[in-house]
Amino acid sequence: MSEAAAEVVRRDPDCLFCRIVAREIPSTRVTEDDLVIAIRDIAQRAPTHVLIMPREHIPSAADLTDAEATLLGRMFGTAAAIARAEGIAEGGYRIVTNVGAWGGQTVDHLHFHLMGGRPFTWPPG
Ligand code: AMP
Ligand code: ZN
Repeated sequence: MSEAAAEVVRRDPDCLFCRIVAREIPSTRVTEDDLVIAIRDIAQRAPTHVLIMPREHIPSAADLTDAEATLLGRMFGTAAAIARAEGIAEGGYRIVTNVGAWGGQTVDHLHFHLMGGRPFTWPPG
């Protein structure tokens, strides 16, 4: 394996989203690039409900450092681009990332929920 291929990214073979990134589990991809993929959430909670995640296995937002600055910029930029493409940018939308059990995180691979197409209340339940 070449050095470039060897550094491909951290991966957890037991992680659902790592397996989706690797196409071992099917998903509906909205967009993807060298750093991130975006898929439709399997249990849509809004007319637009897309998950934006790094290809690399990062457990949650609690694990981010300056080293992920480019990745984070890409994740937010991808969310904004999808919002425009889905026609929800003008009305507004929500970007959420849950951390840990009390935060409501059920998949331990960093992801943003991009949700829109209806109004949301604050604070969330
Ligand atoms: P969270 O609970 O914040 O960790 O978000 C995990 C999200 O992943 C939930 O909204 C689930 O509906 C979604 N999810 C779980 N399994 C799949 C899957 N196979 N494909 C797409 N989304 C999924
Ligand atoms: Zn993972």
